[in-house]
Amino acid sequence: MIPKIIFSDFDGTLTKGTEFTPRFFDILDYSKAHSVPIVIVTGRSLSWAHFLITHFSALDFVIAEGGGVLVRRDENGNPIDEPFVERKNIKHLEVSTKGLLKKFSNISLSADSFGRLTDRAIELSDLLLDIDLFKSVKKFLEKDNINFSTSNVHLNFWSGNVSKYNAVKIFHEKFLSEVSLDECIYFGDSLNDESMFRYFENSVGVSSIKDVLSKLEYRPPIILTGEENDGPDGVYNHLLSLLK
Ligand SMILES: [Mg+2]
Repeated sequence: MIPKIIFSDFDGTLTKGTEFTPRFFDILDYSKAHSVPIVIVTGRSLSWAHFLITHFSALDFVIAEGGGVLVRRDENGNPIDEPFVERKNIKHLEVSTKGLLKKFSNISLSADSFGRLTDRAIELSDLLLDIDLFKSVKKFLEKDNINFSTSNVHLNFWSGNVSKYNAVKIFHEKFLSEVSLDECIYFGDSLNDESMFRYFENSVGVSSIKDVLSKLEYRPPIILTGEENDGPDGVYNHLLSLLK
Protein backbone atom coordinates (compact mmCIF):
# COMPACT_ATOMS: atom_id res chain seq x y z
CA MET A 1 0.00 0.00 0.00
CA ILE A 2 1.28 3.47 -0.90
CA PRO A 3 1.65 5.59 2.26
CA LYS A 4 -0.56 8.69 2.62
CA ILE A 5 2.35 10.89 3.74
CA ILE A 6 6.08 10.16 3.62
CA PHE A 7 7.91 11.66 6.60
CA SER A 8 11.69 11.43 6.44
CA ASP A 9 14.87 12.44 8.19
CA PHE A 10 17.32 14.24 5.90
CA ASP A 11 21.03 13.62 6.67
CA GLY A 12 22.07 10.04 6.01
CA THR A 13 18.50 9.12 5.04
CA LEU A 14 17.74 11.31 2.00
CA THR A 15 21.46 11.93 1.48
CA LYS A 16 24.07 9.21 1.09
CA GLY A 17 26.46 10.09 3.88
CA THR A 18 26.80 13.82 3.25
CA GLU A 19 26.22 13.58 -0.51
CA PHE A 20 23.12 14.50 -2.48
CA THR A 21 22.62 11.75 -5.07
CA PRO A 22 20.19 11.47 -8.03
CA ARG A 23 18.15 9.10 -5.84
CA PHE A 24 16.86 12.10 -3.88
CA PHE A 25 15.18 13.32 -7.07
CA ASP A 26 13.76 9.84 -7.76
CA ILE A 27 12.10 10.02 -4.33
CA LEU A 28 10.65 13.46 -5.10
CA ASP A 29 9.38 12.09 -8.46
CA TYR A 30 7.73 9.16 -6.65
CA SER A 31 6.03 11.64 -4.32
CA LYS A 32 4.71 13.64 -7.30
CA ALA A 33 3.71 10.61 -9.40
CA HIS A 34 1.69 9.06 -6.58
CA SER A 35 0.48 12.35 -5.05
CA VAL A 36 2.04 11.52 -1.69
CA PRO A 37 3.33 14.56 0.20
CA ILE A 38 6.86 14.20 1.49
CA VAL A 39 7.70 16.04 4.71
CA ILE A 40 11.36 16.28 5.74
CA VAL A 41 11.90 16.13 9.53
CA THR A 42 15.49 17.14 10.26
CA GLY A 43 17.85 18.30 12.98
CA ARG A 44 19.23 20.87 10.53
CA SER A 45 18.66 24.56 11.09
CA LEU A 46 15.84 26.85 10.02
CA SER A 47 18.03 28.31 7.27
CA TRP A 48 18.47 24.81 5.82
CA ALA A 49 14.68 24.38 5.77
CA HIS A 50 14.42 27.67 3.85
CA PHE A 51 16.87 26.33 1.30
CA LEU A 52 14.88 23.13 0.82
CA ILE A 53 11.50 24.88 0.56
CA THR A 54 12.90 27.47 -1.86
CA HIS A 55 14.58 25.05 -4.27
CA PHE A 56 12.43 21.90 -4.29
CA SER A 57 8.88 22.56 -5.41
CA ALA A 58 7.91 18.97 -4.55
CA LEU A 59 8.32 19.90 -0.88
CA ASP A 60 5.56 21.90 0.78
CA PHE A 61 6.66 21.41 4.38
CA VAL A 62 9.96 20.95 6.22
CA ILE A 63 10.18 20.41 9.98
CA ALA A 64 13.62 21.56 11.19
CA GLU A 65 15.74 21.90 14.34
CA GLY A 66 14.77 18.44 15.59
CA GLY A 67 11.09 19.41 15.71
CA GLY A 68 11.44 23.02 16.92
CA VAL A 69 10.07 24.77 13.84
CA LEU A 70 8.00 24.14 10.70
CA VAL A 71 8.70 25.91 7.40
CA ARG A 72 6.00 26.02 4.72
CA ARG A 73 5.28 28.09 1.63
CA ASP A 74 2.98 31.12 1.80
CA GLU A 75 0.58 32.04 -1.03
CA ASN A 76 3.42 33.89 -2.83
CA GLY A 77 5.73 30.88 -2.66
CA ASN A 78 7.94 32.34 0.07
CA PRO A 79 9.04 30.31 3.10
CA ILE A 80 7.09 31.02 6.28
CA ASP A 81 8.20 29.87 9.75
CA GLU A 82 5.95 28.38 12.41
CA PRO A 83 7.84 27.60 15.64
CA PHE A 84 6.51 24.71 17.74
CA VAL A 85 7.81 26.35 20.91
CA GLU A 86 6.61 29.59 22.46
CA ARG A 87 8.27 33.02 22.10
CA LYS A 88 9.29 32.82 25.76
CA ASN A 89 11.23 29.59 25.03
CA ILE A 90 13.08 31.23 22.15
CA LYS A 91 13.94 34.18 24.40
CA HIS A 92 14.96 31.91 27.27
CA LEU A 93 17.32 30.01 24.95
CA GLU A 94 18.81 33.27 23.71
CA VAL A 95 19.50 34.57 27.22
CA SER A 96 20.78 31.22 28.49
CA THR A 97 23.13 30.81 25.49
CA LYS A 98 24.62 34.26 26.19
CA GLY A 99 25.18 33.25 29.82
CA LEU A 100 26.75 29.95 28.77
CA LEU A 101 29.22 31.56 26.38
CA LYS A 102 30.11 34.18 28.98
CA LYS A 103 30.77 31.59 31.67
CA PHE A 104 32.68 29.18 29.41
CA SER A 105 34.77 31.47 27.25
CA ASN A 106 36.69 28.53 25.75
CA ILE A 107 33.68 27.03 23.94
CA SER A 108 31.92 28.31 20.83
CA LEU A 109 28.69 27.48 19.06
CA SER A 110 28.70 25.24 15.98
CA ALA A 111 28.95 27.04 12.64
CA ASP A 112 25.33 26.23 11.78
CA SER A 113 24.02 27.80 15.02
CA PHE A 114 23.99 31.05 13.06
CA GLY A 115 20.80 30.00 11.22
CA ARG A 116 19.05 28.43 14.23
CA LEU A 117 15.91 29.74 15.93
CA THR A 118 14.71 27.15 18.47
CA ASP A 119 17.94 25.30 19.32
CA ARG A 120 21.72 25.81 19.39
CA ALA A 121 24.64 23.42 19.09
CA ILE A 122 28.20 23.04 20.32
CA GLU A 123 30.71 20.90 18.42
CA LEU A 124 31.05 17.70 20.42
CA SER A 125 34.71 17.39 19.42
CA ASP A 126 35.46 20.56 21.46
CA LEU A 127 33.76 19.14 24.56
CA LEU A 128 35.20 15.63 24.38
CA LEU A 129 38.71 17.06 24.75
CA ASP A 130 37.83 18.13 28.28
CA ILE A 131 35.36 15.87 30.10
CA ASP A 132 35.19 18.15 33.17
CA LEU A 133 34.24 21.06 30.94
CA PHE A 134 31.61 18.85 29.25
CA LYS A 135 30.12 17.99 32.66
CA SER A 136 30.12 21.64 33.76
CA VAL A 137 28.36 22.71 30.55
CA LYS A 138 25.66 20.06 31.06
CA LYS A 139 25.25 21.13 34.69
CA PHE A 140 24.86 24.77 33.61
CA LEU A 141 22.14 23.83 31.08
CA GLU A 142 20.28 21.65 33.60
CA LYS A 143 20.31 24.42 36.19
CA ASP A 144 18.99 26.84 33.61
CA ASN A 145 16.15 24.46 32.67
CA ILE A 146 17.51 23.94 29.15
CA ASN A 147 17.04 20.51 27.54
CA PHE A 148 19.87 18.90 25.61
CA SER A 149 20.90 15.80 23.73
CA THR A 150 24.01 14.64 21.98
CA SER A 151 24.15 13.49 18.38
CA ASN A 152 27.33 12.06 16.90
CA VAL A 153 28.60 15.55 16.10
CA HIS A 154 26.81 18.04 18.35
CA LEU A 155 25.59 18.80 21.82
CA ASN A 156 22.18 20.28 20.87
CA PHE A 157 20.20 22.29 23.40
CA TRP A 158 16.80 24.02 23.47
CA SER A 159 14.05 25.38 25.72
CA GLY A 160 10.63 23.70 25.77
CA ASN A 161 9.15 20.40 24.69
CA VAL A 162 10.83 19.59 21.38
CA SER A 163 11.07 16.27 19.57
CA LYS A 164 10.58 15.08 16.02
CA TYR A 165 7.48 13.12 17.05
CA ASN A 166 5.96 16.01 18.99
CA ALA A 167 6.35 18.23 15.92
CA VAL A 168 4.93 15.63 13.52
CA LYS A 169 1.89 15.21 15.77
CA ILE A 170 1.16 18.96 15.93
CA PHE A 171 1.86 19.36 12.20
CA HIS A 172 -0.50 16.49 11.33
CA GLU A 173 -3.36 17.85 13.45
CA LYS A 174 -3.01 21.28 11.92
CA PHE A 175 -2.40 20.54 8.25
CA LEU A 176 -3.28 16.98 7.24
CA SER A 177 -5.62 15.66 9.93
CA GLU A 178 -7.88 13.96 7.35
CA VAL A 179 -5.12 11.36 6.94
CA SER A 180 -4.58 8.70 9.61
CA LEU A 181 -0.97 8.67 10.88
CA ASP A 182 -1.15 4.86 10.84
CA GLU A 183 -1.26 5.06 7.04
CA CYS A 184 1.91 7.17 6.88
CA ILE A 185 5.56 6.14 6.94
CA TYR A 186 8.77 7.50 8.48
CA PHE A 187 12.35 6.88 7.37
CA GLY A 188 15.35 7.59 9.60
CA ASP A 189 18.86 6.52 10.48
CA SER A 190 20.00 8.02 13.77
CA LEU A 191 19.59 8.85 17.44
CA ASN A 192 17.47 11.95 16.94
CA ASP A 193 14.92 9.77 15.12
CA GLU A 194 14.25 7.76 18.26
CA SER A 195 11.03 9.60 19.25
CA MET A 196 9.64 8.64 15.83
CA PHE A 197 10.77 5.01 16.16
CA ARG A 198 9.15 4.93 19.60
CA TYR A 199 5.72 6.42 18.88
CA PHE A 200 5.17 6.30 15.13
CA GLU A 201 3.43 3.16 13.87
CA ASN A 202 5.29 2.61 10.57
CA SER A 203 8.93 3.54 10.72
CA VAL A 204 11.82 2.22 8.68
CA GLY A 205 15.55 2.40 9.35
CA VAL A 206 17.77 2.64 6.28
CA SER A 207 20.76 0.32 6.42
CA SER A 208 23.21 2.96 7.73
CA ILE A 209 21.26 2.80 11.01
CA LYS A 210 23.45 -0.19 11.90
CA ASP A 211 26.09 2.19 13.31
CA VAL A 212 23.77 3.43 16.08
CA LEU A 213 21.51 0.40 16.67
CA SER A 214 23.25 -0.54 19.92
CA LYS A 215 22.58 2.97 21.31
CA LEU A 216 18.86 2.99 20.43
CA GLU A 217 16.41 2.03 23.14
CA TYR A 218 13.56 2.09 20.61
CA ARG A 219 14.18 0.67 17.15
CA PRO A 220 12.07 0.94 14.00
CA PRO A 221 10.00 -2.21 13.25
CA ILE A 222 11.58 -2.44 9.79
CA ILE A 223 15.36 -2.23 9.48
CA LEU A 224 16.83 -2.42 5.97
CA THR A 225 20.19 -4.07 5.44
CA GLY A 226 22.95 -4.08 2.83
CA GLU A 227 24.91 -1.38 1.03
CA GLU A 228 22.13 -1.25 -1.61
CA ASN A 229 19.76 0.11 1.05
CA ASP A 230 22.02 2.85 2.39
CA GLY A 231 20.29 6.25 2.76
CA PRO A 232 18.11 7.36 -0.18
CA ASP A 233 18.60 4.02 -1.98
CA GLY A 234 16.93 2.28 0.95
CA VAL A 235 14.09 4.82 1.04
CA TYR A 236 13.49 4.44 -2.69
CA ASN A 237 13.71 0.63 -2.71
CA HIS A 238 11.28 0.40 0.18
CA LEU A 239 8.82 2.81 -1.46
CA LEU A 240 8.96 0.75 -4.68
CA SER A 241 8.32 -2.45 -2.71
CA LEU A 242 5.11 -0.88 -1.35
CA LEU A 243 3.75 -0.57 -4.90
CA LYS A 244 3.68 -4.34 -5.36
MG1 LIG B 1 20.05 11.27 9.99
